[in-house]
Amino acid sequence: MFSKKKTTVDLVIPVYNEAGVVEQTHARISAALEGLPYDFHFIYVNDGSRDGTADSLSALTARDPRVTPLSLSRNFGHQAALTAGLDASTADVVITMDGDGQHPPEMIPEMLRLVAQGYDIVQTQRMDEAQPASFKKWTSGLFYRLINSISRTQVLAGAADFRALTRQAVEALKAMPEYHRFLRGMVAWIGYPTVILPYQPAERISGQSKYSTRKMFRLAMDAIFSFSLVPLYIGLSMGGLFLFMAFAEAVYVLSFWVTGRTSGLAPGWSSLMFMLLIVGGILMILMGFIGVYIGYIFQEVKHRPVYLLKKDPPHD
Ligand code: UDP
Ligand code: MG
Repeated sequence: MFSKKKTTVDLVIPVYNEAGVVEQTHARISAALEGLPYDFHFIYVNDGSRDGTADSLSALTARDPRVTPLSLSRNFGHQAALTAGLDASTADVVITMDGDGQHPPEMIPEMLRLVAQGYDIVQTQRMDEAQPASFKKWTSGLFYRLINSISRTQVLAGAADFRALTRQAVEALKAMPEYHRFLRGMVAWIGYPTVILPYQPAERISGQSKYSTRKMFRLAMDAIFSFSLVPLYIGLSMGGLFLFMAFAEAVYVLSFWVTGRTSGLAPGWSSLMFMLLIVGGILMILMGFIGVYIGYIFQEVKHRPVYLLKKDPPHD
């Protein structure tokens, strides 16, 4: 009789300009995995780093045979880097986590235990309560309230891109080739058995957040416009309201004519201008929303790859 093969686990870790961090991250994760009865593999996705991250990863690869480095041709962003890692993974279970030490690897044994219990998705949730108030915390809270009020797919507030996925869940994500990716929403959308594990975020090992305000804003836009059609309906219902107001005004003016009180009608230039401006404004808003969706449709129909891999530099 053959001995039962160990369950394989791929760790997908996107890194962008984390040269000073990968060594420690790797050491910490390795220590946390020590003695677990799984066959672990590390997929580090270098998201077009411009510092020494590539060298740090090469050094790691030379030392630890469990490491596979993957390089994107430029900086495609966190969500694309995660996607590249998921596509490259082959293991029975895939765990995605940040490479900056903020996702405690000590939770991995518990995550794997839950997967063994039959959950397809073990989603961690960042507990922000203990964190001091900050711009990021405030905007993040606002964002989750907004997306959950307008989207049918409910996204857990503080859901991190630190989660375990079974092969089945990974394949489901791979079957979603959309260009604008908000993985937290996509994972919620697929709807396989999910369990939530809260955690307290640690401090970054070193370096700064690679999520600039601009990147955060773009992620929020991707989430809202790819998971909700509500912005389109806001424009529509506002347009309807103003159409009704215009109709009511026409009736009002007509009533002066019918009762022969036309002299009572003020020249009304200002009110006319007011209506014109408002209606014009509403139309523009509406057009803007439509424009955004057309923009998204345009990008989706192009079927561009979400990322491109870089070939290894030629050896001489
Ligand atoms: N990251 C990436 N590409 C980017 C931005 C970030 O691969 O364009 C990686 C980064 O190296 C880190 C993870 O994504 O491992 C999370 O980023 P970060 O820690 O900067 O975000 P924060 O924790 O501040 O939300
Ligand atoms: Mg971080």
